[in-house]
Amino acid sequence: MSDQAPAFPITEKAYAKLNISLDVTARRADGYHDMLMIMQTVSLCDELTITPESDGNVFAASGLPYVPGDKRNLAVRAALKYLELVGDEGRGMKIALRKRIPVGAGMAGGSADAAAVLRALNRAYGEPLTAEELCAAGQTVGSDVAFCLRGGTALASGRGEILTPLAALPDCRFVICKPDFSISTPELFKKLDESRTSCHPDTDGLLAALGRGDLDGICRRMYNVFEDVPDRRMRTIRAAKGALLDCGALGALMTGTGSAVFGVFRDAERAERARAELAKEYRFCCTAVAVGAQL
Ligand code: ATP
Repeated sequence: MSDQAPAFPITEKAYAKLNISLDVTARRADGYHDMLMIMQTVSLCDELTITPESDGNVFAASGLPYVPGDKRNLAVRAALKYLELVGDEGRGMKIALRKRIPVGAGMAGGSADAAAVLRALNRAYGEPLTAEELCAAGQTVGSDVAFCLRGGTALASGRGEILTPLAALPDCRFVICKPDFSISTPELFKKLDESRTSCHPDTDGLLAALGRGDLDGICRRMYNVFEDVPDRRMRTIRAAKGALLDCGALGALMTGTGSAVFGVFRDAERAERARAELAKEYRFCCTAVAVGAQL
C-alpha cells in the first residue's frame, strides 16, 4: 500500500505520435507482428484532469459517444493497473479527457492518454515506480504505451515496446490532416498478411539521415508499409499526401494504420499556408512541432 495519498486534481498532457517510418518485419507465432518503426512525439495533445471519486469507481469522461468511459478506455486501464501496483486499489477517480487527438487516426491517442495517466499518477504518488516499472505497466495496457511514456524520437521494435532513443528530428513543422474515416488496425494487419507487399522502408538509411540531421534525407525515405495494402481508402490517403506535397511538403506519409496523414515542412509560414489550404478539404487539419522525451 502506498503511504502517500495523491494530491488532486492531477493534470497532464497526452502527446500524439507520428510514424516517420513503419515496417512490419514478421508475423509471429503468437499472432502479433514484429514491427520496426521510427516514431516522433508531436505537440498535438489531449489534456487530462484527474479528480477523486468517493464511490471507488475509476472512469473516463470525454463527452464523445465513440470513446468509452469504462475499462475499454486505455486511460482507465492504466489507472487501474497503477493503483494495483502501488497497492491503492479501491481509490476512485474520474479522468476527464479533453480529446484533441483525432480518434482512430493512427496517432496513438488512447495509448497517449494511458501513458499520461501513468506518468501523472506516479508524480502525484511521489514517484514510487521507476521509469522501467512504468514502461512495464504500460505494456500491459498496449504496445504503443511504452513509447508514449518516454516520447521524443525513438526506434521501436518488437511489438513496438522495445525502444531505442534517437537524435531529435531537425527543426521542422508538421501539417496533419485526417480524412473523415477511420481504418481498423486488425483489418489492415489482416490485409497486409494476405497481400504480397515486398517494399520496406530503408530504416538504416533513415537512421543515418537522422544522425546527420539531414531533413531532406529523412523526408525522402519516409515510408509506411500499410500504404501498400490493397484497400480503396488508400486512394484517399494518396490524395491527401499529394495535396501536402503540392503545398510544399518535403515529404508526406500516413501515420500508423491511418487515417491521419502528415507533411513535413521546413518553416512555420509555409506549414501554416498548407494548413489553411488543406482545411478547405479536411475537417481535421492542424500544425504541430516535434516534442522531446517526457521521462
Ligand atoms: P493507434 O495509433 O495506437 O493504432 P489510433 O490512434 O488509431 O491508435 P485511438 O484514437 O487510440 O486509435 O482509438 C482507437 C479506439 O480505441 C477508439 O475507437 C476507442 O473506442 C478506443 N479507445 C480506448 N481508449 C481511448 C482513449 N483514451 N481515447 C480514444 N479512444 C480510445
